[in-house]
Amino acid sequence: MQMTFEAIYAAAVDTVNKLAAGGEMITPEKTVCVISTRSGRIYYGVSRPEPVNGVITELHAEIDAVRNMQSYGDTAIAELILISAMNRTAMLPCAACVNFILSQGAENAQACVAMPDRMIPLAEIARFSGGNQPAAAPMRNISAKGDLLKDRINSIMEGVDDDDEEDEELLEQLSKPKKKKLFGLFG
Ligand SMILES: [Zn+2]
Repeated sequence: MQMTFEAIYAAAVDTVNKLAAGGEMITPEKTVCVISTRSGRIYYGVSRPEPVNGVITELHAEIDAVRNMQSYGDTAIAELILISAMNRTAMLPCAACVNFILSQGAENAQACVAMPDRMIPLAEIARFSGGNQPAAAPMRNISAKGDLLKDRINSIMEGVDDDDEEDEELLEQLSKPKKKKLFGLFG
């Protein structure tokens, strides 16, 4: 079932509200996951301490939600959202959870993680294998552009006797504080 970000986010916030109303401690680590399946059902998961081989470890909300889904015989995830129960921001699932979900069925490669700006396919997240990161994470793109720019400047600085007109133009633009125009070159 395709849901809008607003709809699946509202379902996650609703789950947090129910937890809080039920007297559950909302710690900074606590996360809530909502899964909508292709069959049109919705499942919830909440992170919680769980003993694994006698060691108490934090069961991630995504795993809890997938187990709930599987207990009803459902397999194919359409969309998934993970939020911090405390500040209610959408997060990317950690690499371990992404890999676990992908291992549960080939169809889940097309499952999408709901983020405020777009729906991100799990397969795409697996390629970048991000950890639990807050929603404002496209910093990677920005720094990649920055590196590109730095490399370009370095190559210009090294090639002093290379008086390529294009390079001089670029240097001239760099000295002006017109960042928008400059980034437009790379965007
Ligand atoms: Zn996880």
